[in-house]
Amino acid sequence: MDINTLCVHSGNKDHSNGAVSMPIYQSATFSHLGVGKSTGYDYSRLANPTRTELETIITKLEYGYDAMAFSTGMAAIVAVMDMFSPGDHIIASDDLYGGSYRFFNNISNKNGLRFDFVDTSNVDNVKKHISKDTKAIFVETPSNPMMHVSDIGLLSELGKENNILVIVDNTFLTPYFMNPIHLGANIVIHSGTKYLGGHNDTLAGFIIVDSEELSEKLRFIYKTVGACLSPFDSWLLIRGIKTLAIRMEKQQANAKVIAEWLTKHPKIKNVNYIGLETHPGFDISKKQGRGFGAMISFETDLEETAVKLLENVQIILYAESLGGVETLITYPMLQTHADVPQEEREKLGINEKFLRLSVGIEDYEDLIYDLETALK
Ligand SMILES: *Cc1c(COP(=O)(O)O)cnc(C)c1O
Repeated sequence: MDINTLCVHSGNKDHSNGAVSMPIYQSATFSHLGVGKSTGYDYSRLANPTRTELETIITKLEYGYDAMAFSTGMAAIVAVMDMFSPGDHIIASDDLYGGSYRFFNNISNKNGLRFDFVDTSNVDNVKKHISKDTKAIFVETPSNPMMHVSDIGLLSELGKENNILVIVDNTFLTPYFMNPIHLGANIVIHSGTKYLGGHNDTLAGFIIVDSEELSEKLRFIYKTVGACLSPFDSWLLIRGIKTLAIRMEKQQANAKVIAEWLTKHPKIKNVNYIGLETHPGFDISKKQGRGFGAMISFETDLEETAVKLLENVQIILYAESLGGVETLITYPMLQTHADVPQEEREKLGINEKFLRLSVGIEDYEDLIYDLETALK
């Protein structure tokens, strides 16, 4: 089935009374038919029918073996890290969502995990950091917010040779544009808060795994730790995913026009959009995905220009987060990446002139007019 159809029709379709929309099973617990007899549902922390429907959809969209829906993207990342033990070593992208960085550096490391943050777009760099304790490579591609592109196929070969798990945070491209498991990755993570939900109204997270073994390990953590997605939020995600395909197409088309416009603006420098042919990750992105998404980052000429832009946009909203139908502009230094140490941040280029734009589904001419006016 084509992905456009999968977004709408990949659920189980066993809805009672012919309901077209999956019912919300707002039940914490489920009664038993007899001793040792279960409907398949016992207690909603373990499984809930509305959530199972969503997990079935996500499993199919990412070509996985199993998927688990979490209350947030961070909860999904925490559960993955709970698989590891003190002394284990993990190689992670040096340009990461700020929350992941904060978790690895303040909590995972306190629990004995060791991290090396490297530029994963350079496979030799990754190779150099592998030791006998290395258990995983954690990659964001394109990375947040610098849009560095890593070659998932090459990293997965490296992972297989060395018995290391490859974990990909696929939040930015979504299964609509890229399937890391197809490329050889073992675990895919999503912040469902972003494109999958798509409406800036719900928090959610996902783990998708490629094997029964990983499913068993993570299902055990899932039911034990308990950061599961509620039935109502599961329903909102099911509803959001139905329009994922058309939203992604529209957002990408808008982003391409806006990125090109930004490259020509005299007050804008260094536009990072992986769909621009001049982007160093363009060819790899083309090879490993079906599209480039709708995330753009760029630098303004002066700090004053950045602040003016944030304060003067009218349609575009100055807010954290991304992926929804509304176009959002973010100040990574003060928002998403505030907890990354200044030295690390500046090495990457996240400074007082650096902004990130998540392009929505509005009319692109209105968005450009808004940017142009705010930049005057
Ligand atoms: C937002 C985000 C997360 C965290 O997800 P939450 O739903 O906010 O907990 C993780 N990774 C990336 C790339 C993100 O953009």
